[in-house]
Amino acid sequence: MASSNKSISFIRTSDFSQSAPRATGEVHVIVGPMFAGKTTSLLRRVKSEAENGRNVAMIKSSKDTRYATDSVVSHDGIKFPCWALPDLSSFRAKYGEDSYEKLDVIGIDEAQFFDDLYDFCCKAADNDGKIVIVAGLDGDYLRRNFGSVLHIIPLADTVTKLTARCDLCGKRAFFTWRKTQETQTELIGGADVYMPVCRFHYVNGQIAMETGRSVRESRNKVKTECFLLEAAAPVV
Ligand SMILES: [Zn+2]
Repeated sequence: MASSNKSISFIRTSDFSQSAPRATGEVHVIVGPMFAGKTTSLLRRVKSEAENGRNVAMIKSSKDTRYATDSVVSHDGIKFPCWALPDLSSFRAKYGEDSYEKLDVIGIDEAQFFDDLYDFCCKAADNDGKIVIVAGLDGDYLRRNFGSVLHIIPLADTVTKLTARCDLCGKRAFFTWRKTQETQTELIGGADVYMPVCRFHYVNGQIAMETGRSVRESRNKVKTECFLLEAAAPVV
């Protein structure tokens, strides 16, 4: 058997300490359906960091203009000034390099709208030593993965899934039900468009929707067939 001449290089532990170690950051993720108190929980955590003398900044998506464009507002009315941005990669330049250096904590609300969430959190926590607290929907109204929120779970120190109260029975609600017929994933709205529901009411609502759809479709089919018959009828 030929012996391998490949040399194995070892990393000395002293190599790690050659560049000054920077304090590493943290990533905390808060998920859940709509009306579960995600924004309230995020605001509470960011406010308490600010009260402890840390430098904090809050970011939200500029797509969400439901309550205000310059502040994050929870459903129960708590407010905090924020940066409304189309993406996270522009934050550092807009916030200013010096201010960014001094920043300790970054809160991100409605994180499902940011496509560059993974890269931002990775860099901010691993390289820049920031504590990043992220709140967002884990699933859309069809309970599918929404945006990049679930992609950052492997980066996270902690993950908290909050629940709401089912609008129909008051039990714990894990899912967001869309009341309207629109089918695009991103449809921004409040209680006029969405409600939190438990598993029982989600599943039964789906069945009712499917039944309603097939009834509508069969009615339309009958109408079309009648129309075709009328069109085909001989003129007398
Ligand atoms: Zn229910």
